Amino acid sequence: MTGSRITKRPGNLSPLPNLRDYEGTCSTFSWDQAARLLDGLPGGAGLNICHEAVDRHLRHGRGGKTALRWLGKGGERRELTYGDLSLATGRFANALGSLGVQPGERVFLLMGRLPELYVALLGALKARCVVTPLFSAFGPEPIAMRAELGDARVLVTTPELYQRKVRGLRARLPGLKHVILVGEPPAGEPGVQGWDALVGSASSDYVIGPTDPESLALLHFTSGTTGRPKGAMHVHGAVVAHAATALYALDLHDDDIFWCTADPGWVTGTSYGVIAPLVTGVTSVVAEAEFDAQTWYGVLEREKVSVWYTAPTAIRMMMKLGADAVRAYKLPALRFMASVGEPLNPEAVVWGQEAFGLPFHDNWWQTETGGIMIANFPALDIKPGSMGRPLPGITAAIVQRRADASVQVVAEPGIDGELALKVPWPSMMRGYLHEDERYRKCFAGGWYLTGDLARRDEDGYFWFVGRADDVIKSAGHLIGPFEVESALLEHPAVAEAAVIGKPDPIVGEVVKAFVALKPGFEAGEALRRELLGHARKRLGAAVAPKEIDFRANLPKTRSGKIMRRLLKARELGLPEGDLSTLESDEK
Ligand code: ATP
Ligand code: MG
Repeated sequence: MTGSRITKRPGNLSPLPNLRDYEGTCSTFSWDQAARLLDGLPGGAGLNICHEAVDRHLRHGRGGKTALRWLGKGGERRELTYGDLSLATGRFANALGSLGVQPGERVFLLMGRLPELYVALLGALKARCVVTPLFSAFGPEPIAMRAELGDARVLVTTPELYQRKVRGLRARLPGLKHVILVGEPPAGEPGVQGWDALVGSASSDYVIGPTDPESLALLHFTSGTTGRPKGAMHVHGAVVAHAATALYALDLHDDDIFWCTADPGWVTGTSYGVIAPLVTGVTSVVAEAEFDAQTWYGVLEREKVSVWYTAPTAIRMMMKLGADAVRAYKLPALRFMASVGEPLNPEAVVWGQEAFGLPFHDNWWQTETGGIMIANFPALDIKPGSMGRPLPGITAAIVQRRADASVQVVAEPGIDGELALKVPWPSMMRGYLHEDERYRKCFAGGWYLTGDLARRDEDGYFWFVGRADDVIKSAGHLIGPFEVESALLEHPAVAEAAVIGKPDPIVGEVVKAFVALKPGFEAGEALRRELLGHARKRLGAAVAPKEIDFRANLPKTRSGKIMRRLLKARELGLPEGDLSTLESDEK
């Protein structure tokens, strides 16, 4: 499969891709020039994400255009135009001002994907506060940990979440002065106000104060896949990267209907579920409901989504149900599909073609990088299983760390090493909150070291091998879990797979796989033997798993990433570590 290629004919694509000449654009690109995609605050007062995402569009004739199309869980719809959003965010910024909240103070958001989440996020940026969106499904402990660490001053949530999760934490969070509830507040609760009374009555006139592009805008916690989540700090100037990646990697055009399925509690749901599409001036669909294949296909069809950004876990769940379920829907508007968050198995890319008539375009980035760094672009051939090529303006390389903590760039292709990006770029994190030492350790010789292992091929495509923490060392081989998982996924019975290294006295580690099956397949000795044989044939005896366990589900983070470290800890009877982001648990 790794040898296959999906050929593109950019001249035949409609509309023509924004990025047609990859090499040419890379050679002339500069971030200063990309900044011209934006307006900047009037009078040279700096760069503010909310101005770029919302207010400036009024001057470009988009005031009446739908910015957010909200689809409620119960079938409700609400359209917010750019004009509506400008007024609503002005009200929210004024409401913060009326509470005495100052620029730089932290506003935390804890709610499902309600319209108010989007208004509060952008309105807080307008007020030059620092925003942290949290997953609404977090329990009290992860909320308290993040609010404490991030010094939350304001929390916007719903009455139900407040009662259930936050109320009991107030004594632990003395810095949390104001809680704004989207709905009716309980009577007599100090520091708690209702959205309607506070925000609804505020003036919508708001002039954004001078905003230094280097001032903090967002504090995002990482997914916690490999350990305790880190707080990555991002600045207003990151919006330059959001604008450039929306054009080049997501290929957004003015009349697109865009849908990013991620929740803003994960960086993708903020950078690409809120900021990037609005900066580009398109209509962005927000679906409140959680994943359900039929619901999602219905959204794609009814809303005539043209560009869709989703994640491998969702794609694998759709694959489980088969391509025919997709073909029952008419999706002529859909023209570009992208995926991020985990390695996208070659099977999944090709399945996209079979089911939707379009391949999924994998792209790679991290909470730390703030925006897409490596992507499969619409005009370039896809090599299924590859993350694609670096964005114009981004220099990526494979490096080896030396004993003295310096790094050496691996010039020749085909060699595994750590993926590194040349600093700086606009959306690079400016620090890990309260973890300076850890932040400093991410850099060497002008490179940001990502902690992911990859390889570059002779055509400049990057291939994910595995996270440095997950790589398995067996009998002198370095085995990337992705390669093994992808081979298992090629078997018709396998819906999901995760592999770990299990200590072994002779070879160091042996590969152990955990597998979830597609409907209609029975876990048992016969299938286990068949899968072991299939993997051996595909991978060779040195790399193939020696053991396979069946699981109904694999443990995942709320952003949909398989937590291999948890499978390993349980297998070895070790402490489970930070589980604050754990979603499905099948223990
Ligand atoms: P933590 O840093 O807390 O362990 P995390 O790394 O999963 O969590 P995120 O910043 O949400 O937190 O995820 C970024 C990581 O996700 C990348 O470093 C990479 O390991 C993985 N990832 C993202 N996109 C891709 C992709 N297209 N292919 C392979 N891996 C990907
Ligand atoms: Mg990480």
